Amino acid sequence: MELEDHNEETEDRAVEFLKPAKRERFIEIVVPMLTLMTIVNCVIILVLVMNIGRKVNGLEQQMIVLQSNAAINAARMSEAEDSDLSESSEPVDVADIDGNHVTDATEAADIVEAAALEDTHKWTDREDNSADIRRVYLTFDDGPSANTDRILDILNQYGVKATFFVVGKEGYTEQYRRIVEDGHTLAMHSYTHKYSEIYASLDAYKEDLTKLHNFLYELTGEDCNIVRFPGGSSNTISHVDMWELIDYLNRENIAYFDWNVSSGDAAGGGKSTAQIKKNVLDNIDQFNNAVVLFHDAAGKDSTVDALPAIIEEILESDNTVLLPITEDTVRVQHLHE
Ligand SMILES: [Zn+2]
Repeated sequence: MELEDHNEETEDRAVEFLKPAKRERFIEIVVPMLTLMTIVNCVIILVLVMNIGRKVNGLEQQMIVLQSNAAINAARMSEAEDSDLSESSEPVDVADIDGNHVTDATEAADIVEAAALEDTHKWTDREDNSADIRRVYLTFDDGPSANTDRILDILNQYGVKATFFVVGKEGYTEQYRRIVEDGHTLAMHSYTHKYSEIYASLDAYKEDLTKLHNFLYELTGEDCNIVRFPGGSSNTISHVDMWELIDYLNRENIAYFDWNVSSGDAAGGGKSTAQIKKNVLDNIDQFNNAVVLFHDAAGKDSTVDALPAIIEEILESDNTVLLPITEDTVRVQHLHE
């Protein structure tokens, strides 16, 4: 028993003796390991955090790119919608012959189409250009307007006679009469000059022209028998076959005239005085009978401004005369037999 006790005692002592040594070893080995692991962990976590940060940054940038792409697409779509709207609604800058904004989209489209054709029509018929005398006919469509008196003054100043294809307008009695009294040809164009109305049917055209004929007869005593179709006989806007209308005019002994030289003053926006002058003077030489298209409608001021120089140059040309259109004038017609 004593020995056992001693042994136990020895063991306890040994344990007690060993314990601090173990602790020291533990501390010596484990603590640096733990510290190292902690440092390594911290480094790993730091690297991970930096990586995540980078990824988040990348994601954010991707988000920004996506958002801006979406914004650009949305803007494009709204632009497209806007342009669709402006196409389907009435054009903003189309004016009628009085210079008033046209609210009817169909009529506005017809005006733009007809004006473009009037300005760009190319005469394709062969023309004998061998005559000794060149005849030039200045013609003015869509009046009277405030510009008509200015044009009449210029024509008087040079002693030149011209042709006026007029529309029906109240308040211009003096101008209709002055055209006749000054020796010019008073010719018919259309009473309303509304394409969608006059070219709806043969009857509609007849009614419009008869109204204009009677209106002019009452004002001036002239029995007008010369006409120009609005947009010309080659227009692409009529809902009636133009030959039906031509047959009607032939039956009524009314002569229709188109043009072979365009001053280019039909379309809205206005050509410059220099351009109008060039369009006329560069092209009349091609014809023995040059019928020149101008407009004395409201707002066509550059036409008036171009006129003196045009007349002067024609008068200075050899073997050239300026005349008003009559029944005997060589028919200049886009559509003819
Ligand atoms: Zn016209």
